[in-house]
Amino acid sequence: MKKSFKIISVVLALVLVIGCFAACQKDDKTKEPQKEVLVMATNAEFPPYEYREGDAVTGIDAEIAQLIADKLGMELKIEDVAFESIIPGVQSGKYDFGMAGMTVTEDRLKDVIFSDSYATGVQVVIIKEDSDIASLDDVAGKKIGVQTNTTGDIYATDDYGEENIVRYENGAVAVQALLNGKVDCVVIDNEPAKSYVAANEGLKILETEYMVEDYAICFAKDNTELKDKVNTALNELIDDGSVQKIIDKYIKA
Ligand code: GLN
Repeated sequence: MKKSFKIISVVLALVLVIGCFAACQKDDKTKEPQKEVLVMATNAEFPPYEYREGDAVTGIDAEIAQLIADKLGMELKIEDVAFESIIPGVQSGKYDFGMAGMTVTEDRLKDVIFSDSYATGVQVVIIKEDSDIASLDDVAGKKIGVQTNTTGDIYATDDYGEENIVRYENGAVAVQALLNGKVDCVVIDNEPAKSYVAANEGLKILETEYMVEDYAICFAKDNTELKDKVNTALNELIDDGSVQKIIDKYIKA
């Protein structure tokens, strides 16, 4: 009798301990639900839209994306990849979306779909202060540095000919080539252009603007569900002034 009582007590105690353990775990889960991860691809060589601060990618796009993820109750993860890898990676599903000061173009619309636009970009020409290039016409026949597969690359190739284009992995390397005299100018978006000119002596931006364009977020063609959700969040953030606030924080008028 005594022995079976002991066994029952031990079993009961075990049941209690296991039950409590399970309950506690369940409790933990309800306190901190696992958030679904939203993977963004960018190229963090495009200040002030995206650049590195230590290990973290920061900038206008990173901040807007974080607010969108917050609205969707998802966890944002940013992958820093080559600009030309963004669209293929989004198409294959490796990344959920691409956000990289990316211009909406007819050609890209064959491969991906875009959100509504959240910012305007302008293609400009960076030259050396003592350059003999004084207008867009003077660019003809000159060596033009561009970032591979950007709209600067695409337009300049169309307008000035493949033989005059020198392609680089990112804007920073293209600007370095200009400083070293390997190219005569660099065609790039105006905001990164301003950063590069501010960071390097002896450079200026040609006054005539080359091309005005819209930036948007890209998604795989069949991912209209995510695109619609992001669009709703994005438009709320545009309407309540959050997007403008982030842009103003990085771009001083
Ligand atoms: N706006 C340009 C484009 O979409 C450049 C973008 C970038 O270099 N990150 O091609």
